[in-house]
Amino acid sequence: MSDAPHPDRPEILRNWARSKSFAPATIERPASLDELRAAIGRAAADGARVKVFGAGHSWSDAHRTDGCAIVLDRLRGVTVDVAARRASAQGGARLNEVNRALTAAGLALENLGSISEQTLAGAIATGTHGSGVRFGIMATQVVAMTLVTADGEARDLRAESAPELFAAARVGFGAFGVVAGVTVACERAFDLAERTTVLPFGEAFGAATLATVARNDHAQFFWLPHTDEALLIERNRVATALPRPSPPGPPAVRRGENAAFGALLALGDAIPGAIPTLNRLARGAVYKSGARVDRSDLVLNTPLPPRYVESEYAIPIERTAEAMGALRALIEREGLRLNFPIGVRFTRGDELWMSPAYGRASCFIGLMQAGGGERVERAFAAFEALMKGYGGRPHWGKIFHATPAEVRAMYPETYERFAALLARTDPTGVFRTPFVDRLFPVP
Ligand SMILES: Cc1cc2nc3c(=O)[nH]c(=O)nc-3n(C[C@H](O)[C@H](O)[C@H](O)COP(=O)(O)OP(=O)(O)OC[C@H]3O[C@@H](n4cnc5c(N)ncnc54)[C@H](O)[C@@H]3O)c2cc1C
Repeated sequence: MSDAPHPDRPEILRNWARSKSFAPATIERPASLDELRAAIGRAAADGARVKVFGAGHSWSDAHRTDGCAIVLDRLRGVTVDVAARRASAQGGARLNEVNRALTAAGLALENLGSISEQTLAGAIATGTHGSGVRFGIMATQVVAMTLVTADGEARDLRAESAPELFAAARVGFGAFGVVAGVTVACERAFDLAERTTVLPFGEAFGAATLATVARNDHAQFFWLPHTDEALLIERNRVATALPRPSPPGPPAVRRGENAAFGALLALGDAIPGAIPTLNRLARGAVYKSGARVDRSDLVLNTPLPPRYVESEYAIPIERTAEAMGALRALIEREGLRLNFPIGVRFTRGDELWMSPAYGRASCFIGLMQAGGGERVERAFAAFEALMKGYGGRPHWGKIFHATPAEVRAMYPETYERFAALLARTDPTGVFRTPFVDRLFPVP
């Protein structure tokens, strides 16, 4: 879609990467549950398709509607129940707002992804995850949700009272309605000791990989394509009495590092043939051994890198080393030129119907790229085909291509149940955006 404002559609919504933009017919910004219900009612009466635009941190079309976009920036309250160790956030609250409230109360989320700029509701909706095979994706931390459905009703969803809808709607990309509030289980605040180690590629992804993952609370790898090493990041809980080292460098240092990295990425995107050499030049900045101790959210979150696009697939964890070896061979064989580190993370399995980790402990392999055009499209196409061959399931907030038949085959136990529940909960298709239709076409 063009970025030129349409005369009747003056506001353009863009994702973080600036790779997607769209102009919905209307944008609603409710300031209360009643206003939210009224907004959904108005859109439904007009026959408009409704979708929440969270913080716009998805690379997929998950947040897109040409009808009525709901922006929940005015519903961002967070309350903490210290005794019950729970936090309740309104639908528009950002994860970093949740983290702040929890820190003030001496609590923390058990695990986080690499950033906290997203809304909590948006992160849950696409199956956002961190790393650590003893931990589930973030949606598994949810104990209750208030969901406003197509009939305007605000339903209280919990495992006990609405087991089916609760299992389906958490990772439901907003297809069942608007999450007005979400309650997550928390833990007493804790520190993490982080150690980073540079390993030869074959050692990182070999016979010992799963043992490395199992012995750490949070283990993950980065591999910069066209290099022979990988970075292992191990993070483990420690007693909070440990002294903290000095905090990371001031933002100016980060900005400087990002500017240099961004310039290198842009150069590689302009001259793909130079990428292997540039990556080898950049390896010193990517592969740094070190150690630190800090508050959990400060260790789990990392500074925002220069803008990039990403596709990520979850494969059965036991295939990690094999798949990484195959990915490396594919890159060489196809002459792909990749300018950004590939992330390799792990989670336990879960019971959420459309979770990429449904029913199996998973390895998430994320292909990130700065730039675009034929080089990047060809890389994503080859990557997706390879991951599908390993039984991969896509992250719903990242770039993916999958036919309904493929998605059904990825979720043989839950696809039909999800589709049937969707038809019952939203019979008139109020939340049926093109993204939902693409995965679950109306029969
Ligand atoms: C720099 C960066 C780092 C990232 N790191 C990670 C990571 O470490 N791990 C990971 O798994 N992912 C990661 N992601 C992906 C990101 O977490 C997801 O795409 C997430 O869904 C974005 O949340 P959002 O608030 O921006 O929602 P949006 O992208 O705006 O929307 C995502 C989906 O949630 C729905 N939604 C949002 N709010 C509501 C609501 N209140 N009710 C109903 N539906 C709603 C939208 O309709 C849409 O379907 C990263 C993305 C970026 C840009």
